Amino acid sequence: MTGRPGRTGTTTRGGGQAGAGDLLELVRSGRAVTRGALQQATGLSRATVGQRLDRLFRAGWLREGAGGPVDSPLGGRPAITLEFDDAHAVVLAADLDTRHARAAVLTLSGEILAEHAGTLVVEDGPERVLGELGRWFAELLVKADRPAARVCGIGLAVPGPVDSGTGRVVQPPMMPGWDGYDIRGRLSRALTEHSGAPAVPVLVDNDANLMAYGEQRTGHPDCAAFVLVKVSTGIGAGVVVDGSIYRGIDGGAGDIGHIRVGTEALCRCGSYGCLAAVASGGAVARRLAESGVPAESGADVRELLAAGHPEAAALAREAGRRVGDVLATVVTLLNPGVLMIAGDLAGTPFLTGVRELLYQRALPRSTAGLDVLTSRWGDRAALIGAGALVVEYLYAPQRVEERLRALGV
Ligand SMILES: [Zn+2]
Repeated sequence: MTGRPGRTGTTTRGGGQAGAGDLLELVRSGRAVTRGALQQATGLSRATVGQRLDRLFRAGWLREGAGGPVDSPLGGRPAITLEFDDAHAVVLAADLDTRHARAAVLTLSGEILAEHAGTLVVEDGPERVLGELGRWFAELLVKADRPAARVCGIGLAVPGPVDSGTGRVVQPPMMPGWDGYDIRGRLSRALTEHSGAPAVPVLVDNDANLMAYGEQRTGHPDCAAFVLVKVSTGIGAGVVVDGSIYRGIDGGAGDIGHIRVGTEALCRCGSYGCLAAVASGGAVARRLAESGVPAESGADVRELLAAGHPEAAALAREAGRRVGDVLATVVTLLNPGVLMIAGDLAGTPFLTGVRELLYQRALPRSTAGLDVLTSRWGDRAALIGAGALVVEYLYAPQRVEERLRALGV
């Protein structure tokens, strides 16, 4: 906050006057939704607020609210409310798992308009996988009845650590052939090839990060420290602090699957004794296969758990205890209000195991205000988070001016 002295409530950045982007932000956040409230919040004159709003109307980003007039804070006639027009563009989102992917077209407020899930093998490499995703997106736009020209951006969740500055994955244990690859460029090109859409911004992030972001924003917006742990073929955690994804210095934060827990088991990353080697969906599947139950992946374990398979349930609970032991440290370090368990193993047996060890090992002080929950959005959480991240990026005040100029308004 760098507003000028004497102008309380201004949201300008860098000490300048509030621009169109700042006004849009005030409307989107619900902090000021009438012309009068915008004048009060920014200190701008009525005429200047009007000029800036006109640009946002011409771009199609703002509209007058359906809710009708409300009493004006400046007195006088009831004021017309303003709202973000969430239908002027769409976002594409995809969530890549190791052998499976999900993609969707979303409105700017996160409603899924069309969705597809299917087999897509990350090990086939980025060229092929991202090309196929471009084809899925083109088909989904047709299904959602939205022209390709309306796409404003793409959000992609991947099962590995991402340098969000470059959108490239960094030494991902489960994504051979993807290290350092230009995911953004390839995915944008693939969309153009299959749909004719112009080049659009592509944001890439870790799947657990985007799941955490999606769940926190839609279900726990007031939770200042939120942790989500995804336990599927691998194990990863996403952390949202004060409404933003916490990534660490280069995207490595939350990669708890490769914490050593002192066992002899070989992990997919090439090391021995990782948490993921003994407590992931993949590890449980291996244990089941060794005792003659056909299972290869976290998804297979999920099916067995859903069918109430007793051995799968016992192994899931044991895996939960292993993860709960590590989470006791996580919870002590971060003091979150919500710890959400998601992914293939997220069910009663696993959660029971997590709770057993978590409450036994963590300080009572750090678990007193903690809710341990399962995911609200399930398999869609990363799509919701990816869509929201793209919208927050594109409509951030510092980017709005440049985008409005590009639109010629
Ligand atoms: Zn490992």
